[in-house]
Amino acid sequence: MTLKKKQSSTTKRIAKIKQLRKQEPSATEIVKGIVEGDKAHLARAITLIESSNQNHSKKAHQIIEASLSKRTASIRIGITGVPGVGKSTFIEAFGKMLTGLGKKVAVLAVDPTSSLSKGSILGDKTRMELLAKDPNAFIRPSPSSESLGGVARKTRESIILCEAAGYDIILVETVGVGQSETVVHGMVDFFLLLKLAGAGDELQGIKRGIMEMADGVVINKADGANKVEADKAKIEFTSALHLYPAKDNNWYPKVLTCSAIQNEGITNVWEMITEFTNLATKSLSFDKNRIKQNQNWFVETVNDKLYHNFYNDELVKTELNKLLLEIEENKISPFFAAKKLLKLKESP
Ligand code: GDP
Repeated sequence: MTLKKKQSSTTKRIAKIKQLRKQEPSATEIVKGIVEGDKAHLARAITLIESSNQNHSKKAHQIIEASLSKRTASIRIGITGVPGVGKSTFIEAFGKMLTGLGKKVAVLAVDPTSSLSKGSILGDKTRMELLAKDPNAFIRPSPSSESLGGVARKTRESIILCEAAGYDIILVETVGVGQSETVVHGMVDFFLLLKLAGAGDELQGIKRGIMEMADGVVINKADGANKVEADKAKIEFTSALHLYPAKDNNWYPKVLTCSAIQNEGITNVWEMITEFTNLATKSLSFDKNRIKQNQNWFVETVNDKLYHNFYNDELVKTELNKLLLEIEENKISPFFAAKKLLKLKESP
């Protein structure tokens, strides 16, 4: 072979390798990669879940279906608290402690406002720098979607993939200022509220009902001059929590203090969660809760689909606009208009 011919065959071979690299792996290949613990495959699959492209959704579904039977038993922990309370500092310390115990930790986020406010939680790669570098941790920012329902679905599906990848601790972070905590509460086994000492709930922007959802409250920044205040707040919150009835499994939410930045009190939080899961497993409420969550997820998915299909129907769109106009002109009552619109999609 002449030198020229040799060079051209090498160039062709390199081009082919490059092309193969560019080719998207199949759903089966991605699942294989996920199960083998390849973070790139896991990240790629989550990107498919988050995509609005129909072909991507189809592939994402195949991956999720195939991953369901491959899941590791996990503990799903929701972590909420207002911005600045120290969520990312806490998750870094907590996550590192867990990987130190041999656990595999995945961190996901539910932050439906991130695309609007750009203040995305987990969006900034420099947050949780140590945990991000840990081979036994996987961090994924919140999907940027404007609807809470959409973000919730994507996060739930991502949980399944993380479990198939062998992550046995799933942390779901959310900002405790809106509806997203309720949604996260509905997808986790343990719900942790991070608080600060010395400021009322209203001042901290904590909505009513969040305390009621919490399985554990941790007062962060219990260090320096703040330590005394934090200990006082612990006593106050403990008595406030006693006003709520015990949870299904007879669990009384606990209040702890910690300093995420100084890595103090972090193991106590894990001990509390272990105590909770032991109790919940014994009383079968752990599995019952997951079944209830799956049932809710099923109903929500059906509702979403019905809603989407109905409002995206061309006939419905046209008739809806007509009826809105008729209501404006007082030609029809809202109830009759609703009946008329719904009748459009009723089967004969
Ligand atoms: P997030 O918005 O809830 O994620 O809060 P960050 O983790 O970003 O923390 C907000 C600020 O509080 C940062 O300046 C942290 O360094 C600081 N911080 C976090 N945890 C602690 C703590 O335990 N003690 C003290 N003193 N500061 C902390």
